[in-house]
Amino acid sequence: MTASWAVVTGASSGIGWAVAEHLLKDGHHVAAWARREERLAGLVERYGADRVRVNQVDVRDGATVRAAVADLTGDGAEIGLLVNNAGLSLGLGPLDDGDAGDWHTMVQTNIEGLLACTHAVLPGMRSAGRGHIVNIGSLAAEYPFMGGNVYAGTKAFVHHLTANLRVDLQGSGVRVTCVAPGMVRSEFALVRFGGDRDRADALYSGIEPLTPDDVADAVVWAHRCPANVNVNYIELMSLDQPYGLALTRRK
Ligand code: NDP
Repeated sequence: MTASWAVVTGASSGIGWAVAEHLLKDGHHVAAWARREERLAGLVERYGADRVRVNQVDVRDGATVRAAVADLTGDGAEIGLLVNNAGLSLGLGPLDDGDAGDWHTMVQTNIEGLLACTHAVLPGMRSAGRGHIVNIGSLAAEYPFMGGNVYAGTKAFVHHLTANLRVDLQGSGVRVTCVAPGMVRSEFALVRFGGDRDRADALYSGIEPLTPDDVADAVVWAHRCPANVNVNYIELMSLDQPYGLALTRRK
């Protein structure tokens, strides 16, 4: 298995699934990671086991992350692209009404999980002298909104880490990009509101949010650029969402 592979975390839904599909359509080999492994089987059915490799990975578990990387590279594969997409938001209340368990889950997933995946693939990229890490950030990192607090903080970490990694990786041949979307219709709001479909749907009422495919287009474009071009940061949002969530115009 000598091909160059793209690892996509959180590929069982939304943006991660779309990124995996766009990369597969673009001719890549994809290692799709998520906790809900059964969902990932759909990618194998569509694109074949020779081009899709599925691993049940909870990014909060560093040992599992390292084992999944070893599973790929042990067979001689090179990891040419890591898309750090796995992430979530829990709750949308002010900080004083927040739940410490929810904060912990967000920090562990959005920050520590992203660090574990990055740490596991970087040595291979450095020794190959090439590679690309794309971190999925968020508009929440740049524009405050009511109840954004801890989630927004975790995404601000992702934005700053991306910029600092660029400096760490000077001369290594490894590119680093942050893609920061605004509102995207996925399972994100359903997770945020603990499975309350009505509340999740209300968040998108009267606006046309981005689709996961819109974000996947941006990821694939950044990756397709020539190896000497580093796309640092892409911010994209729905036409109905001028910057912060609070300013979103509803029809
Ligand atoms: P979804 O809820 O549709 O997808 C989230 C994905 O992350 C799922 O595949 C889920 O897989 C995975 N995931 C969550 N926790 C873990 C974990 N511990 N280990 C491994 N995988 C995990 O939401 P989106 O597609 O919208 O979100 C993707 C990324 O985009 C997130 O980082 C999010 O913060 C970011 N984002 C989303 C926006 C939006 O409005 N939707 C806006 C800006 C950024 P599983 O549960 O199977 O493990």
